[in-house]
Amino acid sequence: MFLLDGAMGTQLFARGVEVGACNDYLNVKSPDVVCEVHRAYLEAGSDAVLTNTFGANRVALKRHGLADQAQRINQAGARIARRAAGRKKYVLGDIGPCGEFLEPLGTLKAQELKDAFAEQARALLAGGVDGLIIETMTALDEIAVAIEAAKSVCGDLPLFASMSFDRAGSDFKTMMGVDVRSAVEKMVSLGVDAVGFNCGTATLDEYVELAERLVAAATSASNEVLVFAEPNAGKPELVDGQAIYRVSPDDFASAAKKIHSAGVNIIGGCCGTGPEHIAAVSKRLRVGNG
Ligand SMILES: [Zn+2]
Repeated sequence: MFLLDGAMGTQLFARGVEVGACNDYLNVKSPDVVCEVHRAYLEAGSDAVLTNTFGANRVALKRHGLADQAQRINQAGARIARRAAGRKKYVLGDIGPCGEFLEPLGTLKAQELKDAFAEQARALLAGGVDGLIIETMTALDEIAVAIEAAKSVCGDLPLFASMSFDRAGSDFKTMMGVDVRSAVEKMVSLGVDAVGFNCGTATLDEYVELAERLVAAATSASNEVLVFAEPNAGKPELVDGQAIYRVSPDDFASAAKKIHSAGVNIIGGCCGTGPEHIAAVSKRLRVGNG
């Protein structure tokens, strides 16, 4: 079992960072706070940490007036994570969605987005990451562009890619209507090393079911692709417009054990998870398990 980390945003807010500001810019402005979060996850047992660069592609940064800082933010993010992880733990450069629709649904051109993701990937690699992770994607065209951009610069380094699924009847689909099988087939056909799911609005039991479907789809698509899962800490409750996650570390670890039994060997957490959730998973899954 290989353990990723948990959420970044909530950990930053817990350390006094202002909600609504550009979290990615903290890599430049307050690197020590970001480093502290990485260290907390590594101490909890994470084998790899994800850089604080989820929204650091130039298309997303434009909304904060920071497009021209993309390179600097990503490179700094990679260096901070590397500083925390040293040479014994791994760093994955985090790439999230751009927040806009590609043509013809929207006005964003595929080439512009590809350039933005390639720029981000290049800067993350320059900062010293061991691999890249594309996550929280909901549109097949966007994840394809992101994978192609990452592949064009990352060479043989590991490339992870995941989409966010929600329960849709008896099935699971992304917000843009992509089912698990179509997502996995697309990601595998583009040559990723690991396919996964992260985030979403499922309950813990639904995440276990989603894991089973993901493993089935991955097994039929490829003999070699790895499978990873980063569930949220259960289904969010909306309180005063804020998403609240109430799942305890212990319940999260129980779900992680079932997800692992379903054939997922790389596990982390998304929204609502913190170092205590990761520590609980580490404790539960590593006993007598190396
Ligand atoms: Zn999430």
